[in-house]
Amino acid sequence: MQTVIPQDRRERIAALDYAYATQPCETLAACNLCGGTRFVVLTHRDRYGYAARADACRDCGLVFLNPRMTAAAYGRFYDGVYRPLVSAFHGRLIDATTIQDEQREYATERTEFLGRFLAAAAQGTRRLLDIGGSTGVVAAHLMREFGLAGTLIDPAPLEVAQAQRLGLETITGLIEDHDFAGRRFDLVLICQTVDHLLDIAGTLARVRSLLTDDGLLFVDIVDFRAAYLRNWSVEDAVKIDHPYYLTESTITAYLRRGGFDILGTDYAADHLHVSYVCRPGTPASDALPAAADVDALLREVRLLQNAPRPR
Ligand SMILES: [Zn+2]
Repeated sequence: MQTVIPQDRRERIAALDYAYATQPCETLAACNLCGGTRFVVLTHRDRYGYAARADACRDCGLVFLNPRMTAAAYGRFYDGVYRPLVSAFHGRLIDATTIQDEQREYATERTEFLGRFLAAAAQGTRRLLDIGGSTGVVAAHLMREFGLAGTLIDPAPLEVAQAQRLGLETITGLIEDHDFAGRRFDLVLICQTVDHLLDIAGTLARVRSLLTDDGLLFVDIVDFRAAYLRNWSVEDAVKIDHPYYLTESTITAYLRRGGFDILGTDYAADHLHVSYVCRPGTPASDALPAAADVDALLREVRLLQNAPRPR
């Protein structure tokens, strides 16, 4: 179903005067997960009303914005547009201060899940790296709970400033660009971040090399199917903040191809996020979602774009 953006929301977004249409963009010729080149266009606009097109790879079912903003344009987006845009969408202030309550709640819930694996891990689990760690609330919580030393990397300066106050070592930037000079970590977190990356396969390869041999990776996704089924709308599930839209099938393939064994899976209480704890394993370079899963996704999207929302 194509939903209509309410007038007040439309006005709040327009008042930001963010010229999405004139941002520098790049068109992706190959799928980041499987390398395929056969795409199906799923939708032509996002939840804010911007003309953002989302494609699905016909071969593996990966969904992504195409074209999408360049890394430089995303850098500017995170430095002053992203949080005001999300605030305008929801009609309430969401910034580096207000998000911390929500992040504390999330940290408590995730710690419970992660704790099971950390307790069983080697005693030497001491160094934490939080990729896209925002204000550091989640990392600081885990540092306290498990006695870890924490490093955080995030592109948003206002959020990194908050993390510094919590005693974290901070890096303002993107994981794709930063040189860690041979450092390795016992626990790497990619919390509410993987859908924001520009190169998931490249980042996972990077993380694999940053992780100690018996280290752990925590990663969670916004499940694209849960997101569109929630509002019975693909447009409402697409937003320029997320270059990628993952499902259980596509993240599992990414992790297996990247050389990670999944130890545990958790459906979050918000019914939207799915979390994974992984350890380094042998890369399964041919791991891909089943063709039947890809067909089912495309059929489901097509159905709900044309069917009235069930009561
Ligand atoms: Zn693909």
